[in-house]
Amino acid sequence: MLVQHDAPLAPLTTLRLGGPARRLVTATTDAEVVSAVREADAAGEPLLVIGGGSNLVIGDAGFDGTVLRIATTGFELDGTVLELAAGEVWAEAVARTVDKGLAGIEFLAGIPGSAGATPVQNVGAYGQEVSTGITEVVAYDRRAGESVTLTGEECGFSYRHSRFKADPERYVVLRVRFRLEDNGGLSTPVRYAETARYLGVEVGERVDLAAARDAVLRLRAGKGMVLDAADHDTWSAGSFFTNPILTADQYADFRARLDGRTAPAYPAPDGCTKTSAAWLIDQAGFGKGYGAGPATLSTKHTLALTNRGAATAGDLLALAREIRDGVRAAFGVELVNEPVMVGVEL
Ligand SMILES: Cc1cc2nc3c(=O)[nH]c(=O)nc-3n(C[C@H](O)[C@H](O)[C@H](O)COP(=O)(O)OP(=O)(O)OC[C@H]3O[C@@H](n4cnc5c(N)ncnc54)[C@H](O)[C@@H]3O)c2cc1C
Repeated sequence: MLVQHDAPLAPLTTLRLGGPARRLVTATTDAEVVSAVREADAAGEPLLVIGGGSNLVIGDAGFDGTVLRIATTGFELDGTVLELAAGEVWAEAVARTVDKGLAGIEFLAGIPGSAGATPVQNVGAYGQEVSTGITEVVAYDRRAGESVTLTGEECGFSYRHSRFKADPERYVVLRVRFRLEDNGGLSTPVRYAETARYLGVEVGERVDLAAARDAVLRLRAGKGMVLDAADHDTWSAGSFFTNPILTADQYADFRARLDGRTAPAYPAPDGCTKTSAAWLIDQAGFGKGYGAGPATLSTKHTLALTNRGAATAGDLLALAREIRDGVRAAFGVELVNEPVMVGVEL
């Protein structure tokens, strides 16, 4: 277990900004993770768990406590059952399952970060979410002081949400178990119109697994959604805002402000409607590349707020607030941040 003091956190995040950790612990086994958490809890020490730092905005003051970086490894495949250690690099795990001819997470290729963080916000893209494949999550329950195994159902998954996100101080994910599918080398059905178009198939068809992964990687790269240290459009936390889910009344109010424009609209649970945050941002006057400062919108996607090299968390948040306020003024819709804020608020 590596312990460092006054350690910079910016290099451990994809936004590459924010202040240092008073204490940074890097754990490479489950036992080290549990012991570091127990030690911090026993001392009443504030604790921040991080994986790949790809969904974090760390404030410029840093974190006055222990940051626990999970660097455990483990990729175990038994038939179609996959168990990943929390520290496994997600994108590499996806590539390995595709190489093994197994379907279930192929459309989640190229998403940065660790396997252990995927249940936290029910990671999803291109019509797939981890919640459909996860059978169990093994986590250390800080309240009970012991490791527990939660079924997929008990994880309380919904759009970019879970019981882990709802109760962030309680669980540290140690292992994630998936049930994959053996479709003879074919993917799960293509769910997303853009991917179907790219692959030249209809929505609902299956395609060769490697072709599915390749299509996703190319589409993502075109939007700056695959990490590339040389490309500042990828110095981001991915989508900065979640797609708003509007109640029937909110949706009626929203439509009344559209002035003849047609906004994306998808059915959501409980009679709600999901619309597109990227569309709202663009239509509110914040086009690709918007911003003059060291923090701007990506030149490839309006939903990614990026660090052009010398941005502080303050710069990024000022841009985020400007966009949130502009969308509210134009459409009466409140954008909510997707990345986790540490020591700062939108
Ligand atoms: C270019 C880019 C593209 C992206 N595209 C997508 C996308 O398509 N879909 C999508 O859903 N997300 C996307 N993201 C967001 C991000 O990659 C995911 O949310 C990812 O799962 C975060 O993993 P991480 O290990 O980096 O988590 P971190 O950023 O390190 O942490 C995020 C949160 O999870 C918690 N956490 C991390 N590990 C654990 C653990 N083991 N136990 C308990 N809590 C933990 C942290 O405390 C924090 O609250 C993108 C990000 C970037 C930079």
